[in-house]
Amino acid sequence: MDDDDEVVIIGAGICGLATALALHKKGIKAVVLERSESLRNITGAAIGIRPNGWRALQQLGVADILRHTAVPIQRIFITNLFTPFLRTPWYGETRCLTRKDLIDTLYAALPPGTVKFSCQLESIKLDPHSSKPVLWFIDGSSIPSKVVIGCDGGKSVVADFLNLKPTKMFPLCSIRGLTNYPNGHSFGNEFTRFMKSNVLIGRIAIDDNLVYWFCAPRYNPKDEKMWEDPKVIRQSTLELLRDHPKEIYEMIENADMKSLSYTRLRYRAPWELLTGTFCKKTVVVAGDAMHVMGPFLGQGGSAGLEDAVVLARTLAQMGSNGVETGSKMAVHRVEEAFNRFVKQRRMRVLRLSLQTYLTGMLLSATSSIKKIIYIVLLVLLFYNSSSHINYDCGNL
Ligand SMILES: Cc1cc2nc3c(=O)[nH]c(=O)nc-3n(C[C@H](O)[C@H](O)[C@H](O)COP(=O)(O)OP(=O)(O)OC[C@H]3O[C@@H](n4cnc5c(N)ncnc54)[C@H](O)[C@@H]3O)c2cc1C
Repeated sequence: MDDDDEVVIIGAGICGLATALALHKKGIKAVVLERSESLRNITGAAIGIRPNGWRALQQLGVADILRHTAVPIQRIFITNLFTPFLRTPWYGETRCLTRKDLIDTLYAALPPGTVKFSCQLESIKLDPHSSKPVLWFIDGSSIPSKVVIGCDGGKSVVADFLNLKPTKMFPLCSIRGLTNYPNGHSFGNEFTRFMKSNVLIGRIAIDDNLVYWFCAPRYNPKDEKMWEDPKVIRQSTLELLRDHPKEIYEMIENADMKSLSYTRLRYRAPWELLTGTFCKKTVVVAGDAMHVMGPFLGQGGSAGLEDAVVLARTLAQMGSNGVETGSKMAVHRVEEAFNRFVKQRRMRVLRLSLQTYLTGMLLSATSSIKKIIYIVLLVLLFYNSSSHINYDCGNL
């Protein structure tokens, strides 16, 4: 990193890479510091992107490249849960991208050398003299920096610096994987979601051969370490779903071992999103670091893409890019830009997180009374349950 790197982004996940790309497009120089040794492009297998996410990808200039990697999903098929059988069209562009395609495409669009690997942030402290944030790394090194954007995920060190409360856990976990059908699958361009024996299962086509699937059983603390081994993940999933239809069983059996993952589902409490301080001086959080949410609406990643567009636009609008004037960023302009960013994003991510939270609590509730309460709240607050996909983050 050199002195010209005015913006430091922590974390090269979807949001960190998208933010670096958005800033680059606005002529703002940024560096991304990532703790892993290389790009984390396999974990989590795949990700569904709905129309609001595509609008953000369009602004980032990578939508057309990504469209070639996945088929459009036309319908959702829900079997069981509240309606026994419901097959309904999915309006607006929806595709399921492999995480590898998404991460690799964002990375490839960045100027070479933007991401520095093996840089694990340990803490941030404010310099007592200059009040600038100083980044401390796990290897004992430190760097003063002017502007810091924390895109370091659900266990964010930057969020700790902002005194945000630790994220919470759903009583559910998620098992995800990819299965390739060399002769083509027969599932169509459809998202199938069904619930059996209290386990939610989803299956969605990426292309004519590749299928992404997930299931969300209840979390059992005893399993945590065991599930780090892909062989155990596959075996345990097969046992969990042994009384499921043959095609589901075979899909798990034939899954690509490298794609298998087990994740405990976390969330930032919606009420914290209402009141939390998401920026302090020239430090801000975005993506999961700000608003980690369960996967029940499939919106966490898209919300991070929206953050990237809004954040870069706000910084540029405040003249904080120093590009037109050739000057360095004025600290007070950055602070103002971050305040505006948080103001613009707060209600959007609050609504998304609340709807996701209520859906997750409904899926994990064991008592009928609780289920009824969550259904009533969802109907009252989110009568049009798909309205969140109409959101437009605007031009970069
Ligand atoms: C089961 C499941 C299914 C999902 N499905 C969907 C979906 O269909 N659609 C959708 O839009 N979203 C989905 N999501 C949500 C989506 O995956 C996340 O919202 C998204 O990946 C968050 O991106 P991020 O860049 O903010 O954080 P992350 O992806 O967590 O990236 C954070 C990065 O920061 C790095 N890092 C962390 N700490 C440090 C540190 N101290 N120093 C340096 N680097 C650090 C990490 O190594 C990582 O590379 C799903 C989530 C789950 C759990």
